Amino acid sequence: MVYMLQQTLVLIKPDGLVRSLTGNVLTRLSETKLEIVAAKVTRVSQEMAEEHYRELKGKPFYAELIQYLQGELHDRRKVMALVYWGHDAIEKVREVAGETNPEAASPTSIRGSFGRIRSSGLFENVIHASSSEAEAEREIKLWFHPDEIIVDLYPTKAASSGGIQTRQWA
Ligand code: UDP
Ligand code: MG
Repeated sequence: MVYMLQQTLVLIKPDGLVRSLTGNVLTRLSETKLEIVAAKVTRVSQEMAEEHYRELKGKPFYAELIQYLQGELHDRRKVMALVYWGHDAIEKVREVAGETNPEAASPTSIRGSFGRIRSSGLFENVIHASSSEAEAEREIKLWFHPDEIIVDLYPTKAASSGGIQTRQWA
């Protein structure tokens, strides 16, 4: 099988931050030997949350999921966003993350170790990880500006902000 050089978006969701799991999650992800090429802590507006999860609009858990990503269920209105880069990045990160349902996830995975199911049924599963190259591209462009990423992942065009040269996604 041919190696695929890929990038993938990871979000440490508000439950991960409020429960001080950042160090644990980053340690588990470091087992993949992938490189972190972008990282930040950021607030999530309702518009961002809805855009991020737009494929799930219409699902019964959608409204609560939007609240969850914004931190409204945990009174912690931020996420940590990272881009991991390297061979087979998407599959490697999904493997360490574990299945979506924390009770179905391998007990040694991040979601199996630290996730839970809320009484409403929502999966509170600590991290997000892109599941395909197309999804990774859409999500990385949504969460990061080109100048926040230390490698060139997708085409950009020149822009200017207050007289300073910057780039935006082409
Ligand atoms: N989710 C949920 N119940 C479901 C499916 C999804 O609560 O039956 C939540 C869960 O937090 C999940 C997110 O919605 O991480 C996005 O769902 P997706 O199917 O994309 O799973 P993922 O890619 O995160 O494994
Ligand atoms: Mg998904």
